[in-house]
Amino acid sequence: MRHLPIFLDLGGKAAIVVGGGAVAARRAEHLIRAGARVTTFAAALSDDFRELLDQPNFRHEAREPQPKDFESCALCFVAVDDERLSAEAWAAAKGAGAWVNVADRPRFCDFIMPSILDRNPLVVAISTGGASPILGRMLKARMESAIPAAYGRLADLMGGFRDAVAKAIASPVQRRRFWETVLEGPIAEKALAGDERAAAAELAHAIAGAAADNAEAPRGEVYLVGAGPGDPDLLTFRALRLMQKADVVLYDRLTDPHVINLVRREAERIYVGKQPEDHELPQDEISALLVKLAREGKRVLRLKGGDPFVFGRGGEEIEALAAEGVPFQVCPGVTAAIGAAAYAGIPLTHRDHAQACVFVTGHGKEGKIDLDWTALLQPRQTVAIYMGLRNVEALTREFVARGASPDLPAAIVDNATRPNQRVVVGTLGTLAAKADAAQLSGPSIIIVGTVVTLRDALDWRPAAEARPSAEHGRSVAATSGKAQDGFSR
Ligand code: SAH
Repeated sequence: MRHLPIFLDLGGKAAIVVGGGAVAARRAEHLIRAGARVTTFAAALSDDFRELLDQPNFRHEAREPQPKDFESCALCFVAVDDERLSAEAWAAAKGAGAWVNVADRPRFCDFIMPSILDRNPLVVAISTGGASPILGRMLKARMESAIPAAYGRLADLMGGFRDAVAKAIASPVQRRRFWETVLEGPIAEKALAGDERAAAAELAHAIAGAAADNAEAPRGEVYLVGAGPGDPDLLTFRALRLMQKADVVLYDRLTDPHVINLVRREAERIYVGKQPEDHELPQDEISALLVKLAREGKRVLRLKGGDPFVFGRGGEEIEALAAEGVPFQVCPGVTAAIGAAAYAGIPLTHRDHAQACVFVTGHGKEGKIDLDWTALLQPRQTVAIYMGLRNVEALTREFVARGASPDLPAAIVDNATRPNQRVVVGTLGTLAAKADAAQLSGPSIIIVGTVVTLRDALDWRPAAEARPSAEHGRSVAATSGKAQDGFSR
């Protein structure tokens, strides 16, 4: 973030605008709206100032500003073509300790002007850090339709009752819930529809009711949410909604940091670890923690990589919750094998190749892999192996020892759906050595079956945003024309 977005209280403060053109007029208008006392220095004012002329806080001086004019000036906008005047005004304003913005001269700006969506008292300011004001304006235009003017009325209504709610409901958690209920319910609907009187009456009534219930402890609950394999775009709407409601979040190594960033900012974050060899918090302790936090009245978000019910031990966690009578809900996520298949261009089933797909875990104890080989070695079937990277050598060897052809195609999708996704393609005979050479970091999904060949046959290309996903770390952008890495042609 190159600039700190803050909202300044300029009420009654002196501000100066140097310039009489359209840009100067827009600046003066914003300043006046924010309650500043504005003096504009310009030989002449363009027509854009028309509406400002009778504003009590607006004054026009038809001359160049002198250094003493800037005394007690808080903020200054310079928007003139004349370089000498511009430099002098900047120096004088700086000399007086004012914050200055010189139009189109980033080097002479203490602050930049955002694109502003004004739904007084609700204000949205958008900045691209100076990189593309046009993009900022485009986003603003989108928000114009997403945030109707009535939201200002809604904010006004809530502002009017803020103190009353603070008095009536002592607990911050309860208070937040109260406001969420108001915003999601008929009171907000009435305010948005323009019936502010009815909305205010109902709100007053609801506050009285909440004050009466205040003694009751808030009821906590647990959201067991699948965060998908990494790419935040793969979250469900429901996951995002629950993530925005949480008071506390428990996450582990498999949850992508970009996904965690979407959790409500104020939510407490608890890392519960889970590495293959270092289970930082044992499963029963995680379950106990979920119960404890919910009992404190919190909305507890348990974020799980992929889907909570696919090798996620979600079942164990909800068993504990159910046993303790803690309310919970489970929100599915895109499981790693599904994400890997889509982002690597390997369909898991295909009319000509596989009518079934099984998901298994290749996690073995002391190198011994305990799998139902007869079930795995069925023809016309794809096998997706979770937690198998460390055992890839033993796994592929065992497939062949049990009768599979060493030429059976197989692939590893490492860090599927993430910017650092890599795909290694080979056969049961070659995969382990290739994986070793590629020094994959995991997490990885191993896909075994002839569907792997479709990756080439389908002339699959990564999404337009060109995820760097080539084998051995080569980025797709670097591969032009013919295949260099076996898949991104
Ligand atoms: N519940 C998760 C699986 C948890 S088990 C799900 O539904 O995806 C952990 C295993 O998931 C890892 O060892 C790896 O095999 C797989 N995995 C998770 N995220 C992955 C990713 N981004 N890319 C490849 N494999 C992943």
